[in-house]
Amino acid sequence: MNSQLQQQLEKLNLQTGELPDQQQWQQFVNMVELAYKKAEQKRLALEQSLSISPVETLALYEQKKASYEARLFAILDAIPDIIFLIDEDGRYLEIMSGRENRLFTEKEALLGNLLHDVLPATQADSFLSVIQQALATDSLVLIDYELDVVSGKRYFQGRALSTELIINNKRTVVFVAVDVSDVRQAQIQQKLISTMFENGQEGMVILDDKLQIVSANSVYGKFMQQDVAEIVGKQPVFITDQSLHSSSTSIDNELKKHHHWVGEITGHDEAGKAYPIWLTINTVEDKHDVVSNYVAILTDVSAIKKSQKELEYVATHDFLTSLPNRVLFQDRLEQAVVRSQRSSKPGALLFLDLNRFKIINDNLGHHVGDELLRQVAFRLKKLCRDTDTLSRLGGDEFTLIVEGLRDVNEAAGIAEKIIQSFKDTFSLAEYDLEVHVSIGISVFPDDSADANELIKFSDTAMYSAKDNGASHYCFYTRELSTTAFEFFSIEVALKKAIVEDQFFVLFQPQYEIISGKLIGVEALIRWQHPDLGIVLPSMFIHIAEASNVIHEIGDYVMQQCCQQLKLWDVQGKDDFLLALNISRKQLVDPEFATRVAGLLKKHNVEDVRLEFEITESAIMDKEYVAIENLKKIDAMGIRLAIDDFGTGYSSLENLKSFPLARLKIDQTFVRDVNRDSDDEAIIRATIALAKSFGLKVIAEGVENIEQLEFLRAEGCDEVQGYYFSKPVPANEVEFQVDMK
Ligand code: C2E
Ligand code: CA
Ligand code: CA
Repeated sequence: MNSQLQQQLEKLNLQTGELPDQQQWQQFVNMVELAYKKAEQKRLALEQSLSISPVETLALYEQKKASYEARLFAILDAIPDIIFLIDEDGRYLEIMSGRENRLFTEKEALLGNLLHDVLPATQADSFLSVIQQALATDSLVLIDYELDVVSGKRYFQGRALSTELIINNKRTVVFVAVDVSDVRQAQIQQKLISTMFENGQEGMVILDDKLQIVSANSVYGKFMQQDVAEIVGKQPVFITDQSLHSSSTSIDNELKKHHHWVGEITGHDEAGKAYPIWLTINTVEDKHDVVSNYVAILTDVSAIKKSQKELEYVATHDFLTSLPNRVLFQDRLEQAVVRSQRSSKPGALLFLDLNRFKIINDNLGHHVGDELLRQVAFRLKKLCRDTDTLSRLGGDEFTLIVEGLRDVNEAAGIAEKIIQSFKDTFSLAEYDLEVHVSIGISVFPDDSADANELIKFSDTAMYSAKDNGASHYCFYTRELSTTAFEFFSIEVALKKAIVEDQFFVLFQPQYEIISGKLIGVEALIRWQHPDLGIVLPSMFIHIAEASNVIHEIGDYVMQQCCQQLKLWDVQGKDDFLLALNISRKQLVDPEFATRVAGLLKKHNVEDVRLEFEITESAIMDKEYVAIENLKKIDAMGIRLAIDDFGTGYSSLENLKSFPLARLKIDQTFVRDVNRDSDDEAIIRATIALAKSFGLKVIAEGVENIEQLEFLRAEGCDEVQGYYFSKPVPANEVEFQVDMK
């Protein structure tokens, strides 16, 4: 019997096999009726439901399926991974790849194909072995691989797991490819950074916002002689120890203000020796722009500094002598001037020039010249105090800066000592060479407080010393030169004077003592300045010499003399010489002799009754060009006279090799006749010596009868001076004077 029926019968106390009473029966009937009613309803509902058409049912099914699939695909699409269903042979059965460009080719090209159809053999092999392993072990098998997909090279982790699904009698595997490119990139970067952090040359420290060390690399530990493990949590020494850097404000204050600090700090090596470290501190800010960390990078710059120092040395020193060069000299001079102004103690700049350097260098070779410069530097160095600066400006020019002088005589003493030190010959290769030095001295701050001016002044003084002959020194005086400005404006004015024909020439007669006859005239230039009137050569010749205008002036005088000579020729006055002054600068001009020859030709001068007066110093260097010029001049029939004789260093012995005709005794000796017995002795000796060499002697600057008498008594041949005539225009020259 149906158990429910049984239960209901029990409820009604009706035992099977027993007849019910009326009431019980009625109840039973009601219950049965109710049951039928319910069944009826269900049947109706069923009937109703069965009345839906098969088309509708299919549509409903499709709808349900579609929405299910859509949801499923939406979910799968959102998964960043690619899911493959692959069978045991490696055949692609299904691919859920979301966006297509995550695959290496189109989905359709894969589906139904084997791994080996679409992938390189080695890669297909390794995937297949993973699939087979997953099937064999029934567990998750992982594989890392890289693949060129449509969007570029990507890194994947493949995860293979077998499924229950059997398709076409083949077992299947779900293979999930997880794109791990970003993670991998981050890992690589991380690795790089940590490699950099640990293995770089730089010390690195990461600090928190309270400037406490979060991490420091071992290089930093080495730089600071600290154990990096022990300093975590503490502030680094460059923050706590102010003495490690030279900036006035503390680094932490600077960081608070500027969020940045760069500068040099001092590190110490194991032996405690200090060395320079370049420190850069930058801040790291969080996304709210609040400083979260500081990163400090420390670089050992001792090598850079060393090479910088070496470079600096090379740039400031002369490679030959290792003395300071022009650059450093200039700098030292400027400093010395400032110090002298502060201390009120004068200093001096000595400008040294070797007298025979060029000839040695040219004739004995540069190696001998170089060695000479080295020996000179060595000798000079021995005379210097530590505080002096001895420099080589180039060529044979040396300078010496001496400071803290009691008075300027001290500078003279030093110059004297230098000259003395050149008395011994220099031993170079197989030669024992005599070298002399000329020294010009300018005093600071008296002469000038401007370094450039001081250099120029000492240079001017040096030329003046040279004019006096080698082994002399000379102090700068205002007469020697003019200020830079005046110098420049005179130079400009000289050029203008040439163009505007402001020069003219006067002639000073020279007479024979015995006969009183005119035997020569000396051409002396004058400048007819539009504002200043007549300007004497002592005011401008040195500027002309310094600025090359001297060549044009020389040409002008030569031209005037040629014309005058022709005029006197016409007048039959042809028994005397015309003497011209030639500067050293002209004589060392390689074009000089050619210029002279050109002018002689231009003016048609046949009877060359000319004499060139040159100073001893102009030829003492025995400069090659000067000697060549002199030879050519001699060949042209022009006589040579030594001017200002006795003021220079040369001995007649030295002059023997030149084709000389006359010596002019300098007027400074003549001036002191009857007053200075030394000068008288010099005149006497000069006359005697000149005679022994067959040279004529003329004395210049004869102003009175006493001087004339003395010269006559000593056997001097000729005289020139105010006593007879001042320099005069050509037409005022007297051809005969009374010699009494
Ligand atoms: P210097 O060659 O020694 O010329 C002699 C100077 O002494 C001349 O001065 C002359 O006027 C002066 N003098 C002559 N007799 C006497 C005298 O009895 N007493 C005194 N106190 N002085 C006398 P100046 O004309 O002023 O020339 C000065 C210097 O300028 C010359 O000295 C010479 O070195 C140079 N100079 C003159 N003209 C020329 C020139 O055309 N070319 C070159 N390169 N230099 C020249
Ligand atoms: Ca002269
Ligand atoms: Ca003279």
